[in-house]
Amino acid sequence: MRVMRTKRQFRTVAAPLALLAAAVGLLWANGHYTAALAVLSALCFVLVMGRLLASRRPDGELADNEFALLHDPLTELPNRLLFHDRVHQTILGATRTGTRAAVIVLDVDRFKEINESLGHHMGDLLLYELGYKLTETLRQSDSVARLGGDEFAILLPEIDDEAAALAAANKIRAALSNPIAVRDVSLEVEASAGIALYPDHGLDPETLLQHADVAMYSAKKAQSGCELYARARHEFSPARLRLVQDLRTGISAGQLELHYQPKVRLSDNRVVGVEALARWNHPEHGLVSPESFIPLAERTGLIRPLTLAVLEMAIDQTAAWRSRGIQLAMSVNLSPRNLTDHELPHQIKRLLEERGVPTNSLELELREDTINADPKRARDVLSRLDAMGIWLAIDDFGTGRTALPYLQQLPVTTLKVDRSFVGSMTHEGDDAALVRSAIALGRNLGLRVVAEGVETDAVMNLLRQLGCDQVQGFYVCRPVPASDFERWLREREYAEQAA
Ligand code: C2E
Ligand code: MG
Ligand code: MG
Repeated sequence: MRVMRTKRQFRTVAAPLALLAAAVGLLWANGHYTAALAVLSALCFVLVMGRLLASRRPDGELADNEFALLHDPLTELPNRLLFHDRVHQTILGATRTGTRAAVIVLDVDRFKEINESLGHHMGDLLLYELGYKLTETLRQSDSVARLGGDEFAILLPEIDDEAAALAAANKIRAALSNPIAVRDVSLEVEASAGIALYPDHGLDPETLLQHADVAMYSAKKAQSGCELYARARHEFSPARLRLVQDLRTGISAGQLELHYQPKVRLSDNRVVGVEALARWNHPEHGLVSPESFIPLAERTGLIRPLTLAVLEMAIDQTAAWRSRGIQLAMSVNLSPRNLTDHELPHQIKRLLEERGVPTNSLELELREDTINADPKRARDVLSRLDAMGIWLAIDDFGTGRTALPYLQQLPVTTLKVDRSFVGSMTHEGDDAALVRSAIALGRNLGLRVVAEGVETDAVMNLLRQLGCDQVQGFYVCRPVPASDFERWLREREYAEQAA
């Protein structure tokens, strides 16, 4: 979008050029033809030489490269990298002076709808105008960056307290709410904002951005427009805060590992898929269960890097198994926050392509509440994943309240009945009824039904009678590390052949 940059540069040089042009016109009108021609040719000479010199100067090229590295090509605003650096510099200053700074993450509401109804080009122009408007609204000492998609970040390097930060964020939102003209179309835009303060809510750029992101997400969920990270912070005791810090370093230090649990097709008893389940190998506490650290990651903005790390390991493992002739569908769990991340489909595509794994080898499992948190966005990301050929499953089915018409609109292919009903279905009438109706529902909607938490032979037989498609549970195999799983699979195949 070099045009955009030229547009900005033009705004700064237009006034002197207009003055010179007026001078030429005046001299010409008064009959000073020679003088007018002399000014004109001097002007042309300066412009042509300036252009030539600029294009030949290696430092001009260097500056261009540096600009491209640190700026978003669409809006020409600083990108995440430059924003990080600015937050870092601000923190250094604020530590010396004992002042506060605010990081705001701003996300346009329903941007996808604008993009889809008016076209991507209009969407791009709107993002450019939004960036321009944000820059105009803020002070020169503030920074605006585009983080990607419809997400912007703002740095207010000096802010008194929480109230001042909230007032600033609301002022920004108010400025955006005036209609924005894009190609003669007047667009109404709303945005949700999340704020994290230095030093109150984080001591480094990454933490501040993650916490502002968490606050933005809760603003979106509550439809409140703007939230401070403070609310989430109150939930955390010093011990939990330490654990969050440990998890942050643990993810980048490769302390996460995956255990795999098979899924068996009841019609022929074949292992057809495997679910990847995250474990955290904490240096002091040992193997930590996902039930303790996934909710923590979900509430602290760490779920994005965590999910990416899990996807990368699971896709790596799929590629390794495929190269050894083991072709199984790999299921990975997603969290609600992942479905508001417009970059996720693209990142998954890249991971699959890099490892040569076909898209239909991957299934993503979404808990019922995942879809209910932000249905419009969820549907958008799900449709993109579905269009790529990735399988989608509703996990822990029966625990939420997914409305039937809504379920029909989602591009899901599988229902996984929650283990709390499956485990007790042979002795609890209500649970048996729920499993029975989930299987019937799945059949009517043309979905595959998987029962999880199968611990006994009796449950497995009952599920077979009811027409359930697949089972997963301790009765078949517990979740185990990749090498143990491979051994288990070989032994099972061997036993089948021998029988
Ligand atoms: P889930 O996706 O429903 O995974 C199935 C859980 O049921 C696993 O617990 C598994 O160990 C357990 N399970 C399997 N068979 C049986 C059985 O026969 N009896 C009983 N009692 N339990 C059984 P796990 O590994 O502790 O995972 C718990 C939950 O944590 C998962 O539930 C999933 O919601 C979440 N989770 C795990 N890994 C990830 C991840 O990478 N990302 C996200 N977002 N969530 C994850
Ligand atoms: Mg699951
Ligand atoms: Mg489940």
